[in-house]
Amino acid sequence: LEDLHYELIVVGAGAGGIAAALTAARLGVRTLLIERENKVGGTAVLSGVSIWEMGVSGTGISRDIYERLAQIPDAVGIYSVYNHCCWPKDGAPTFPGGQFIVDSDRTYADTLRRYGTRGYAADETMCRETWHGLPFEPEIFSQVVRDMLDETGCCDVWADSELVDISTDGGKIRTCKIQRSDAYINVIGDVWIDSTGDASLCALAGCRMMFGTESQDEFGEPDAPLVASSETNGVSLVYRVSRDSSKWLTPPSLLPTDCWWTDQFPVANVVEYPNGDWNMNMLPTMEGEVYYGMAAGDAYQECVRRVWAHWRWTQQAWPEFTGCGISWIAPKVGAREGPRVVGEYVLTEQDVLGGITQQIHADIIAIADHAVDIHNTTESNRCAEPKEPYGIPFRCLIPKGWQNLLVACRGASFTHIAGASCRLTRTMMQIGQAAGTSAALAKANGCLPREVSAKYLRKALSEQVVVLDYRELLQKGFINHGIH
Ligand SMILES: Cc1cc2nc3c(=O)[nH]c(=O)nc-3n(C[C@H](O)[C@H](O)[C@H](O)COP(=O)(O)OP(=O)(O)OC[C@H]3O[C@@H](n4cnc5c(N)ncnc54)[C@H](O)[C@@H]3O)c2cc1C
Repeated sequence: LEDLHYELIVVGAGAGGIAAALTAARLGVRTLLIERENKVGGTAVLSGVSIWEMGVSGTGISRDIYERLAQIPDAVGIYSVYNHCCWPKDGAPTFPGGQFIVDSDRTYADTLRRYGTRGYAADETMCRETWHGLPFEPEIFSQVVRDMLDETGCCDVWADSELVDISTDGGKIRTCKIQRSDAYINVIGDVWIDSTGDASLCALAGCRMMFGTESQDEFGEPDAPLVASSETNGVSLVYRVSRDSSKWLTPPSLLPTDCWWTDQFPVANVVEYPNGDWNMNMLPTMEGEVYYGMAAGDAYQECVRRVWAHWRWTQQAWPEFTGCGISWIAPKVGAREGPRVVGEYVLTEQDVLGGITQQIHADIIAIADHAVDIHNTTESNRCAEPKEPYGIPFRCLIPKGWQNLLVACRGASFTHIAGASCRLTRTMMQIGQAAGTSAALAKANGCLPREVSAKYLRKALSEQVVVLDYRELLQKGFINHGIH
């Protein structure tokens, strides 16, 4: 059999991968999107993280997807903060985390800002006014994205297909071997985008990788520890609770009543789905270091036990959950952080907290404004809120020294601290959109994506309504961009 050939191969159909493939295919690049699971969506679907948090990254592809979801009943909503453990009420026990409810008065434009508050504890009024995220139905999201990819007529989507090997030559990837059922297929690619979350294509290619927490010496980050360690952000197994008893799962019979893995049961982000169910995200279910030290199957089983224990505690202590039961536990543990590649530029804490007016990069292709959000017991749950958004340079998407390879996922070139801010789904979509656009510009100009002029890349993104100047995201700007 002759090997198949594509102009672009995107590996991994999570947030970064779907945006990269959709963008490139819309621009006429013959694209193959490979996903090892049986559906597209990645963490947002299989790990139950079906919530886009508020933030300035929400322009471009994510908004296009929202417009499609909004046409389907109960597919997507916009939330406001309702209850929070930082805001006790009349001496009553505080809610076990944050509770966010669908608010039909809000519009997409209301979801585009995080920066500028001092956080939950110090700034209830502004959090209530400006923080609005989007919960959506994961299965509908997956189908809508699949339809949008098919509509391009330029993208083949292979689910249940895992990239298992590659051949390289002089800083370029040439071919890959894909396992589909029991068969192996070789595919040739001109350009490659690693959207595997863990940057596993980069690792396979032999790129320099980072893992865990970098020391202060390495990138001069003020809040990095003196000594590097294998600590990573905690993982969570998301679950769903419903009032419909016909959907309830049966709890295990033997379960300790006390929390056995930490001092007290963790708080949770509790977000209302458009149909009234609750998305429960424990913060976290397991320390990252413990998770990566266990076999995947064992870690999942232990997280399931913790879910049941957490739910029993939550339900007994808070009347909000009377009459509810667990209807779904995500089939995959959600990892906030894993291996990352060293790129031509490494995004650091100084970029994130210094903000865009301090940054001198000419190649900013995405903006973000989420807090540095670390969930583990030893780093005191740092949650520094940026005063203004910051930019992500295109060079973070280019593995150092590599020619036809880009990375567009949480495994891009971010330090542990910077990644703890920019990992959000819509930010990953924005970097995916930049990677896909650069592949199209490279094709048009007969060059490599890394050689595409930053000026033209930014202009092309602007034509796709990716807003890179956050000041445009004022009320007037929303209207100018048709974002309501
Ligand atoms: C518990 C948790 C809560 C979060 N909460 C929020 C939130 O509220 N709001 C928000 O915006 N963000 C949130 N995030 C962050 C966000 O969800 C993720 O960082 C983001 O979705 C990651 O996208 P990605 O494209 O990097 O990777 P993923 O979505 O993980 O996609 C990677 C894909 O690559 C596939 N893959 C991997 N290897 C291969 C291979 N060899 N061959 C083929 N396919 C492969 C995987 O199956 C997967 O589908 C949260 C994350 C976690 C874990």
